Amino acid sequence: MSIQADLSASVGRTPLIRLRHASELTGCEVLAKAELLNPGGSIKDRTALGLVLDAERRGELRPGGTIVEGTAGNTGIGLALIGASRGYRTVIFMPDTQSAEKIAALRVTGAEVRLVPAVPYKDPNHYAHHARRHAEALNAARPGSAWFANQFDNTANRDWHAATTGVEIWEQTEGRVDGFVCAAGTGGTLAGVGHALKARKPQVRIALADPAGSALASYVRTGELAASGSSISEGIGSSRVTANFDGAPIDLAWSIPDEESVPLAHRLLHEEGWCVGGSSGVNIAGAIRLARALGPGHTIVTVLADAGTRYQAKLFNPAFLHDKGIPVPAWLEQAFPAGTPARARAEIVQRAFAKAL
Ligand code: PMP
Repeated sequence: MSIQADLSASVGRTPLIRLRHASELTGCEVLAKAELLNPGGSIKDRTALGLVLDAERRGELRPGGTIVEGTAGNTGIGLALIGASRGYRTVIFMPDTQSAEKIAALRVTGAEVRLVPAVPYKDPNHYAHHARRHAEALNAARPGSAWFANQFDNTANRDWHAATTGVEIWEQTEGRVDGFVCAAGTGGTLAGVGHALKARKPQVRIALADPAGSALASYVRTGELAASGSSISEGIGSSRVTANFDGAPIDLAWSIPDEESVPLAHRLLHEEGWCVGGSSGVNIAGAIRLARALGPGHTIVTVLADAGTRYQAKLFNPAFLHDKGIPVPAWLEQAFPAGTPARARAEIVQRAFAKAL
C-alpha cells in the first residue's frame, strides 16, 4: 500500500507538462508545472502549507487556533483547506473585486470571508491591514489564539517555493532548465524558484512576466515603481516591493498586455486541453518571450497557476472580453446559442455564477 497521511501530503509534486504550441512556436522545450492540480486548485496551496508549517514550528500557530489572512482568494482557499485538515479556523479578508467563483469557493470551505473595498496598500483599509488588525484583536482578547499568515512579507513563502517548486523543477528537468519565468503577486514563486535554480546553475535566466497595470516590470528594469494600463488577470502584479519579491534574482522583465496573454490561455484550452486562469496566460506569454530571448534549443519552465473555471464569467464571457478590447476566438462566440445578443450572453454567464454565492 502507498498511503499519504492527509491533505498536506498531496500539495506539490505536480507534473511538468510540455506546452506544445509554445514549444513549436519557439523551437524551445517550453514546460509548465501543472499547479492547478493541487488539492485547492492553485499554486497557493504550496504557499499556504509552507506558511502554516513554519508557524507551527515557531509556535505562532497553536492547536485549535485561528488563521487570519488577506488574500485575492487562492491563498485563502489553500489556508482554509489546510486549516480544516489540521484543526484550525480560518478568517479571510479579500477585496470585493475578486471573481464570484473564488469567493464562493472560499465560503464553501467553511472559511469566514470578509469582503472589503479594494484600496491601495498604503490605505489603512487595504485587506492585508484589515487581516493584521483582526489577528491582533483576537490575540488581545485571547493571547496566542490567532496567527496572521502575512503571505506578502513572510519570507517563509519564498523559502517553501525554493525548497519544493524550485527543487522539483530542477529534478524533473534533470538540471537542463535554462530559464524560468512567471508573474509575481507576493513574489514567493518567482523569488523562491529563482534562488533555488540560480544556486544550482548560476547561468539560469530568471524572468518576470508582469501584467499591465503592475509596477514591477518597471521596477526591475529601472528601479522605479511605475505602472500603466490594466489587466483582467487576478492574483498577480503589485504596486510595491514585498519582502518576498525583494532581492529576487531577476534577469529580464516584461509588461504583458491582456491582448497577448488571454488568447494564449484560450488556445491552451482549445488545443491542449488545459483550462487555466489569466495569470497562466501571462506566464505562457512570458515563456514565449523568454524562449525567443534565449533562442531555439533551450528549456524554459513556467507554471499553470490555477484553473480557468475560477474565472468563467470573465475569461470565457465574450461580452466581457469585447468590452475590454480582448480578442474573442470563434469557438467561444459559438459556445452560446445562435442569435443571443452580447449583453444577454453576459447576463446568462453572470447569473449562472451568481447562483453559486
Ligand atoms: N497566479 C495566481 C492565480 C495567484 O493567485 C497568485 C498569487 N496571488 C499568483 C499567480 C502569484 O504567485 P506569487 O504570490 O507566488 O507571486
